[in-house]
Amino acid sequence: MGLMTGKKGVIFGVSNKRGIAYAIAEKLFHEGADIAFTYAGDIMKDRVEPLAAEMQSKLCISCDVNNEAEIKEVFNQCRAVYGTIDFIIHAVAFANREDLTGNFSDTSFEGWNLALGVSAYSLIPMARYAKDMMNDGGSIVALSYLGSERSVPNYNVMGVAKAALEANVRYLASEFGPRGIRVNSLSAGPIKTLAAKGIDGFDILLKVNAARSPMKRNVTLDEVGNAGLYLCSDLSSGVSGETHHVDCGYHSVATTKADALIIGVQAD
Ligand code: NAD
Repeated sequence: MGLMTGKKGVIFGVSNKRGIAYAIAEKLFHEGADIAFTYAGDIMKDRVEPLAAEMQSKLCISCDVNNEAEIKEVFNQCRAVYGTIDFIIHAVAFANREDLTGNFSDTSFEGWNLALGVSAYSLIPMARYAKDMMNDGGSIVALSYLGSERSVPNYNVMGVAKAALEANVRYLASEFGPRGIRVNSLSAGPIKTLAAKGIDGFDILLKVNAARSPMKRNVTLDEVGNAGLYLCSDLSSGVSGETHHVDCGYHSVATTKADALIIGVQAD
């Protein structure tokens, strides 16, 4: 029997096999989970449907998270197919390319609304429509990044969106906790995915993270997948309202010996 045997849930944000949502889905599936998938638009449909079929999914449905009616319909369909559910993965993010480069102070109101709407607000209607169909012991997991807590070059408005997302998680954890439902953020280190390609200078970010992290490397998709499995399964039954970093320890570092070289002083 697997860690997720008998558990059913929905994943928002699968794009292809190099994405974080797919890595988590794969782990959940191999541990026995029954997974519904969503996709944003026809291009994603062609990519996501075969992946959903690979995991014997009973439900693969269109959902642009900008459209609350579509989010509601996902949960209506989940109710029709599964009755109740045990987990939700929120792995959806978007910002205009021009808002992921240059000066943060140039962020437009429209760009801000778009990034925060898709990447942060969307968790709230998901939780609302899932509330009365989630089982005791259920888990909601939202994908985040350290740019929520510290400034990261070019991450800009997405950092603000992730800060809002993590705050959403804490408020939902408080509201849903008495019903036995846990809500957590999974803060992954940088991984070269479709979405990451939109962030200016992402290749440099990868190199800097690997060099400065205590483990001297970047996190793998497999490791983030395992952490997603942990947060969805009963292994994390006592964990809620948490921002769980899976980034080879990078978030814990303020200064490294190598930083001394950058400013040209001798390290001890
Ligand atoms: P990805 O491109 O595989 O996933 C992003 C997903 O968001 C895609 O499936 C895309 O279709 C979906 N999406 C965008 N706009 C949408 C909309 N309006 N409605 C519905 N879906 C929409 O990239 P990824 O890096 O695997 O991203 C998954 C999550 O992980 C995101 O929340 C991202 O911010 C987060 N994350 C990524 C990294 C990284 O370095 N790649 C690090 C930490 C956190």
